[in-house]
Amino acid sequence: MYRVTLSEKEIPKKWYNIAADLPVEPPMPDQTEEGHQLENLPKIFSKGVLEQEMSQDRWIEIPKEVREVYEKIGRPSPLFRARGLEDHLDTPAKIFYKREDLSPTGSHKLNTAIAQAYYAKKDGAELLTTETGAGQWGSALALACSFMDLDCKVYMVRISFKQKPYRKTIMQLYNSEILASPSDKTEFGRKMLEKDPNHPGSLGIAISEAIEDALKDEKVYYSLGSVLNHVMLHQTVIGLEIKKQLEKIDETPDVIVGCVGGGSNFAGAVFPFVKDKLDGDLDCQFIAAEPTSCPTLTQGEYKYDFGDTAGLTPLIKMYTLGHDFIPPSVHAGGLRYHGMSPHVALLVHEGIVEGRTVSQTELFKSGEVFANVEGVIPAPETCHAIKIGMDEAIKCRKSGEEKNIIINFSGHGLLDLQGYDDYLSGNLTD
Ligand SMILES: *Cc1c(COP(=O)(O)O)cnc(C)c1O
Repeated sequence: MYRVTLSEKEIPKKWYNIAADLPVEPPMPDQTEEGHQLENLPKIFSKGVLEQEMSQDRWIEIPKEVREVYEKIGRPSPLFRARGLEDHLDTPAKIFYKREDLSPTGSHKLNTAIAQAYYAKKDGAELLTTETGAGQWGSALALACSFMDLDCKVYMVRISFKQKPYRKTIMQLYNSEILASPSDKTEFGRKMLEKDPNHPGSLGIAISEAIEDALKDEKVYYSLGSVLNHVMLHQTVIGLEIKKQLEKIDETPDVIVGCVGGGSNFAGAVFPFVKDKLDGDLDCQFIAAEPTSCPTLTQGEYKYDFGDTAGLTPLIKMYTLGHDFIPPSVHAGGLRYHGMSPHVALLVHEGIVEGRTVSQTELFKSGEVFANVEGVIPAPETCHAIKIGMDEAIKCRKSGEEKNIIINFSGHGLLDLQGYDDYLSGNLTD
């Protein structure tokens, strides 16, 4: 057996909301002075997602229209057994990987993009603005807007705008407008360009520009690809499917690992299993893999901070490297973010989730191994999770334990070949 599949009918009918089951009361966004931006939220987000952001309901129904588009993009995604990797590592562990790379834009991000575009349209919006780093989120939202008949405008971090021309083409093909950020189209962008006309940009700056647009026009909403509670919620289709798939083959997970930028693919895979662990029904390790160059969970502080650089978002309690932290431009662009999902952060703080770092050389080495034994070329982001999954499988070789290791395979690397090229030619830095 290489592949565990589910039928279209088995697409989950509800998302799982971890807010109902957290082990401690989650800290509220700061509503005092600096945190006053809370009143801006209804101008920025649709009613549908704002309700979900604050909801305490354990299960939230997935609208029929959203489930139909999930079907169209190929959900449920298969769970693969990595027999090639098991043989290569000579491990008694069973390694599985959940194929979020098989969606049309090549990552998990469509799971929330489709839902966010649906609620924006329902609420009468005409345009969604957003930020994108490497372009995975921008291309997912561009496609979701195209499906839902909405306009889309993407602020793309300037350095990626130059380095990733093909992601730009994908977004243009899906009829979205792309601006290099900082741009001269917003006040905050102009302020950044005054400081440095060649500013490389950052996710935090691009978020500020996109929010500024939404604040200025009531037909415009902003959409965020990670970090927020409703994004984690939408991604739980991943873990709910994994649960059904493991049940089908009579297995339970011992280790689940995912990479973390803002935390969404990790949360999606892991959250549906957290309650079982808290209830004592499941003995499973949850490991979040992050870059050594942007070590939010392992080196950041657990405190209130802004989600963007200009300070337009509410203050949220999370692990953060500081909202003015500009991470070095590593190839795993999707993991270059100073903050973290408050729910993932809380679980790390409570010791339920563990953070680990992976260096740039290590991750490409793991990606090369994986590509050769499994055939799929992983995104540099995904390679972080693969490296940690491999480490755990090697531990099993030494201990003889037959653990089930689940890797959330967040995306493919076919548009990240520059990174692999630098790795192969010895031009990588850590
Ligand atoms: C965006 C992205 C990530 C990081 O974002 P999360 O919200 O932490 O999941 C990881 N992998 C891929 C392939 C991505 O596109």
